[in-house]
Amino acid sequence: MTTTTVEKAPRKQGMYEVVMEQFAHAADIMDLDPGVRKILAKTNSEIVVHFPVRLDNGKIEVFTGYRVQHNNALGPYKGGLRYHPTLDIDAARALAIWMTWKTSLAGLPYGGAKGGVEIDPKQYSQGELERITRRFTYALGDNIGPDLDIPAPDVNTNAQIMAWIADTFSSTKSPSTRFANLHVVTGKPLGAGGLEGRDRATGFGVVANLKTWAKIHKHDLKGMRFIVQGFGNVGYWTAHFLLKEGAILIAVQDATATLHDEKGIDPEALLEHSDANGRNIKGFKGAKEMEPKDFFALPCDIVVPAALGNQITGENAGGIKAKVVAEGANGPTNTAGEEILRKNKVDIIPDILCNSGGVIGSYYEWLQNKRSEIWKIEEVLKMIHDKIDTSFTQVIATSAEFKVDWRTSAYIVALRRLEKTYKERGIFP
Ligand code: GLU
Repeated sequence: MTTTTVEKAPRKQGMYEVVMEQFAHAADIMDLDPGVRKILAKTNSEIVVHFPVRLDNGKIEVFTGYRVQHNNALGPYKGGLRYHPTLDIDAARALAIWMTWKTSLAGLPYGGAKGGVEIDPKQYSQGELERITRRFTYALGDNIGPDLDIPAPDVNTNAQIMAWIADTFSSTKSPSTRFANLHVVTGKPLGAGGLEGRDRATGFGVVANLKTWAKIHKHDLKGMRFIVQGFGNVGYWTAHFLLKEGAILIAVQDATATLHDEKGIDPEALLEHSDANGRNIKGFKGAKEMEPKDFFALPCDIVVPAALGNQITGENAGGIKAKVVAEGANGPTNTAGEEILRKNKVDIIPDILCNSGGVIGSYYEWLQNKRSEIWKIEEVLKMIHDKIDTSFTQVIATSAEFKVDWRTSAYIVALRRLEKTYKERGIFP
């Protein structure tokens, strides 16, 4: 008998494995209570719904939606809904778990959840997206609610989609509770109870983190060159606020193109182009197209992954020449990528800290709604900045205490708060 050895391609590490490895690493180092570790290693509930929608051509399509609720020890479940073809139960699980760490680290009274619909929204008309959103909301039923689980925007979802969710959810409840039920989501349009500043909160927070990072190293953000992967809400607003600090945007990548200009790309002109071009950056006249695979290796000071997970990996991390990776996306760096960055002394501002401005903004929207108040953008941005400063200070102190990197210390801060809550409250019954 002859045996043949089949060379196996290295298996792609999924986001769920990444988050579980990060969790196990931090739990080992801090010696997390074994019972709490067991609880946090599992999600509380996983909802998968299949629902029919009539398309514009008269045909019926059945869609798949998810909502994974990881943990609610600290408060109602909180986290975005994304519309993306790569969304599956594993991705929703990983993203829900990251939300639990993120809200805990930020000191918010929330747990973690995530979900969405497995679609490419660019394939559907506005009317179809509205019907998909409303029917998805209906399918989720009472699994969400303003004091139970509060969704928000994420990849490919926006204020309009939140408004449809709020309207559908509250319309299917008793009229006497309509207004309270409108607050089932955050990231709503201003006229529908939204918060001034929530639109820019994540990008603003990324830059708040970079300002602290620059202060620690006595760097000046002015004149620093940066590249951004993803030109959605997070990518655009990060570029907008970094330009205000005097930094120069030299490259942007999305699924359609990679644009490069050493003299600087104007994010406002690029946004205008992208808005008029189906939210794609391809075809922008203000920069040259380059090979997508060379993007991360461009000489620059700051890399901002602000798109999907698992983008900085063992294959491309070695090419990164920047001083810092500011994780605007959730889970953009996998374990192998992280090891290489660490070896090459590239700082990482971890996602659960770096992109926490979004959910902090959501918290203030929820609070504003609960109090029936309307706040000014200046106050909102200042509150977000302060909260991020507090988190970063804790992350630095904990990193010195345990002699660990910032991601691990961010996890330890988040896990300690959860551990304390479980110890104080005990387990029912
Ligand atoms: N989707 C955002 C995140 O990943 C925001 C979540 C929220 O505001 O609830 O953090």
